[in-house]
Amino acid sequence: MSLQRSLENIARYNNQLNAFTQVFDPPSRAGQGPLAGLPVAVKENICTRLGRTTAGSRFLENYRSPFDATVVARLQHAGAVIVGKTNTDEFGMGSSTEHSAFGPTRNPWDPSRVPGGSSGGSAAAVAAGLVPVALGSDTGGSIRQPAAMCGIVGVKPTYGRVSRYGLVAFASSLDVIGPIGCTVQDCARVLEIIAGPDPHDSTCSPRPCPDLTSKLETPIDDLRIGVVRSLLSPSNHPAVNAGIEAALDRLKCAGATLIDVELPHADAAIAAYYIVAPAEASSNLARYDGVRFGRSAETSEPESLDAFYRANRTQGFGPEVRRRIILGTHVLSAGYYDAYYLRALKARRLIKRDYDQAFHDHALHALAMPVTPGPAFPIGQRLDDPLALYLEDVYTVGVSLAGLPAVAMPCSLTDDAPPLPVGIQLVGRAFDEPTLLRVARTLERQTPRPPVRPQVFAGD
Ligand code: GLN
Repeated sequence: MSLQRSLENIARYNNQLNAFTQVFDPPSRAGQGPLAGLPVAVKENICTRLGRTTAGSRFLENYRSPFDATVVARLQHAGAVIVGKTNTDEFGMGSSTEHSAFGPTRNPWDPSRVPGGSSGGSAAAVAAGLVPVALGSDTGGSIRQPAAMCGIVGVKPTYGRVSRYGLVAFASSLDVIGPIGCTVQDCARVLEIIAGPDPHDSTCSPRPCPDLTSKLETPIDDLRIGVVRSLLSPSNHPAVNAGIEAALDRLKCAGATLIDVELPHADAAIAAYYIVAPAEASSNLARYDGVRFGRSAETSEPESLDAFYRANRTQGFGPEVRRRIILGTHVLSAGYYDAYYLRALKARRLIKRDYDQAFHDHALHALAMPVTPGPAFPIGQRLDDPLALYLEDVYTVGVSLAGLPAVAMPCSLTDDAPPLPVGIQLVGRAFDEPTLLRVARTLERQTPRPPVRPQVFAGD
C-alpha cells in the first residue's frame, strides 16, 4: 500500500473508527532502506519525537517525547514512514480500547463492537486498510487479542526479543512491542527490523535476531505441533472451536504432526497475571505525580503535598488504571506480599514450566490454542464488569507469563450479521520466531480468504 493511499484511507475512514489519535504530515523526502516508503502506524504508548505520546491517558495529554523509541528509530532508519499514532486503553490496561482518554475505537467488521485491546487502534487501522502494518504492545494479550478480533495477524515476540526502550512501561517483566499486519510476511518484515539487541534496554536479549522472512515458505512436514485440547472448552463461542479444528486440519494436510498436550496450570494464569501485572504497574506508575511527569490538577492551592499528589493522580488517571494501582499496591504491601505477590510468582513459575515441559517432552515446535473465548463484543457491554473483561485474557496471559512468542491470526468467521472474525493462537519456543512464523505462514497459505469484507467498506 502506498503512502498516498494510506493517507487517503485514513482521511476517509478514521472518523468512523477512531483508530488514529494523531496523523502526521508525510516527510518531504522519501526514505531509503528495506522498508522505503512503507506507511506504519505506532501505538500511543510508544515514544515518537513526532506529535505526542499520551499512552491514551489524560495524564500525558500534552507529553512530547524528546526521543524516539528504539523500534521507531529502527523503522525510520529502514525507510518506513510513521503516519500517525493509534488509540489504546490507558497505559495498555484493557482488552477493548474503551478505556482511552480519546474515546473508544470501533471494530471495522462491526462498528458497534470493540476492536479488542489494548492495541485496538493499531488493529482497527490495519483491518480497515488504513495502513498495511502497525506497532502494538503486548503485556497480557494486547497485540494478539485485537488482531484476532479484527481478523488480521499479530505477533507477540519472545520477551526480550525487541527493545522496550521508549515504550511507556506497564508491567516491565511482561511488556513486549510487536507488529500487527495484514499478512504474516508483513509482520515478519517489520519484526526483523525492530528486533535485536539494544544497549538502551538491559532486558533486551543480546541474541541477534535471525532472518525471519527467507524461510517462511519452507514446508512444515518436519514439524510437531501440540494441541491444547482442554482449552477448546465448551464455554468458548462455537465458531472459535470449529475454526481452530479447521485450522488444525489444514496444518495436518500441510504435513505437520499434531500431538495432544496438557498445560496443567493454565487455570491459574488469569489470577497470577492480575496480581503480577498490577503490582508492576503500581510501581511503574508511581512516577506520574504531576511534577516530574504528567499534568497537574486544576485546583486552588492544595493544603499539602499529599493533597497535591492526590488531586493530580485522581484527575489524571481513569478508573481502570486507578483500580490496577490500588490492587497492585495492596498485593505488594507488608502482610499481603507473601499471600498474593509471592504466590503469584510461584504460579508463574509453574505456568512457565508447563510450557517448557510440553515443548521438551513432546519435542514440539509450536502449540495451538484459542486467542479469545469469543469474537468482538458490543461497545459498553463489559464496562461495568471488570472481571468479565479480565476473563477475555484467559488464553493470552499464560503465554505472556511464560515469555514465549505467539502469533494470532484469523481462522474463521462467525455466522453473525455482519460476520465477525475469530482467531487461532500459535505459540512458539523462546526465541524461535523463525519456526513459529513458518507455521503461521503455512496456515495462512492454506486458509481461504473470507468471502466477506469488513463492514466499514460497505458501499465502496
Ligand atoms: N488485557 C490485559 C490487561 O488488561 C492485557 C493488556 C496488554 O497486553 N497491554 O492487562
